[in-house]
Amino acid sequence: MNTASFEYRDGALAAEGVCLRKLADELGTPLYVYSALAIRRNFLAYEAAFKDVPHLVCYSVKAASNLALLDIIKSLGGGADIVSGGELYRARKVGIEPSKIVFSGVGKTEKEMAEALKADVLMFNVESGPEAELLNKVAGQMGKKAPISFRVNPDVDPKTHPYIATGLKESKFGIPIDEARDLYRQAKNLSHLDPIGLDCHIGSQLTQISPFAAAAERLAALLGLLKQDGLKIRYLDLGGGLGINYHAQDVPTAADYARAVKDVLGGCLPELTLIMEPGRSVVGPAGLMLVRVLYNKITPHRHFVIIDGAMNDLIRPSLYGSYHEILPVIDHNRPKVKVNVVGPVCESGDFMAQDRELSEVKAGECLAVFGAGAYGFSMSSNYNSRPRPAEVLADGQSYRVIRARETLEDLLRGETV
Ligand SMILES: *Cc1c(COP(=O)(O)O)cnc(C)c1O
Repeated sequence: MNTASFEYRDGALAAEGVCLRKLADELGTPLYVYSALAIRRNFLAYEAAFKDVPHLVCYSVKAASNLALLDIIKSLGGGADIVSGGELYRARKVGIEPSKIVFSGVGKTEKEMAEALKADVLMFNVESGPEAELLNKVAGQMGKKAPISFRVNPDVDPKTHPYIATGLKESKFGIPIDEARDLYRQAKNLSHLDPIGLDCHIGSQLTQISPFAAAAERLAALLGLLKQDGLKIRYLDLGGGLGINYHAQDVPTAADYARAVKDVLGGCLPELTLIMEPGRSVVGPAGLMLVRVLYNKITPHRHFVIIDGAMNDLIRPSLYGSYHEILPVIDHNRPKVKVNVVGPVCESGDFMAQDRELSEVKAGECLAVFGAGAYGFSMSSNYNSRPRPAEVLADGQSYRVIRARETLEDLLRGETV
């Protein structure tokens, strides 16, 4: 993991120049902390890797959607990959140009289509024939032509968790690649669609380059056929999916990824603008969650470290069985014990770590849950009527709260008896 922005200094963990224990004491726990430096660095790695070809990096908003984080992306010239009207609203709120927004997702509603057409987004990534027909109708009613690509399903195995593999033929996502040519022919004849792109997104947390290369190869072949059919495809959207090092994993860099796909695309490149939709690899390593130990509960069978953060705050361990590094914020080199780190939520599935060698910790001390920047806060909920954590952005020596901790009043907003 690229944790250089989170470092121990004299035995105390810091986010850039900000001491995390002080932050926890001041703002309470659980608390999400992001490093602005790390987000910039991870985003710019894509810009650098693709600088020799026309490209657009559309940050996948669902990975972490806070306005302050989107503002960093915008300030670096980035675009947005959105999957809902809500994400369109966020992206527009920070001023990301509509010409840099692509609208993905398998279940766009008529209302969302109208909103995105009104905003003049760059492209709709369409995932089925019926969706194309509806978009054609909505665009017609508005007197517009909707720029589209079809999201094809290249049927490659991304070798990742089944819940985040999206490019296999049994997936709900995309269009089987052998049906794509027909759909493009049909779309060409619909007067309110303008097929300008070709798209895929094969999955998330990929730790190998070969599936990306295989997908790019299939897309390149399809591009050739579409050209024969007289279509002028100008955008090739390769989706997101690059994995991060959660724990002792070797992961490819943006540069490795770029080299491989450019290699495969070779001859097609001059006619294309490449679009990437990275989420996790931009924000994942750039965020952590601070929690506090409530109790050590030792039963005849297990040692539970009960913390004040739970599955409602960070659901990845419960949902995917994923591994997050957990270390004490102060003095992490201590004798280790085997424990289960669990939260207060009333579900046995509520755990941050199982059978984990963790430093012996005392009630009251703080732990850092690393690699929580992506699909952390954005997947959080109020389950068990738990107000969601605050979010903080560290930037050099300073920090600011970018989302206030929810209050009990927030929990009841909109409810009536
Ligand atoms: C979630 C998603 C992404 C981002 O994936 P990461 O693994 O976070 O990079 C990109 N494109 C689409 C269509 C997505 O659904």
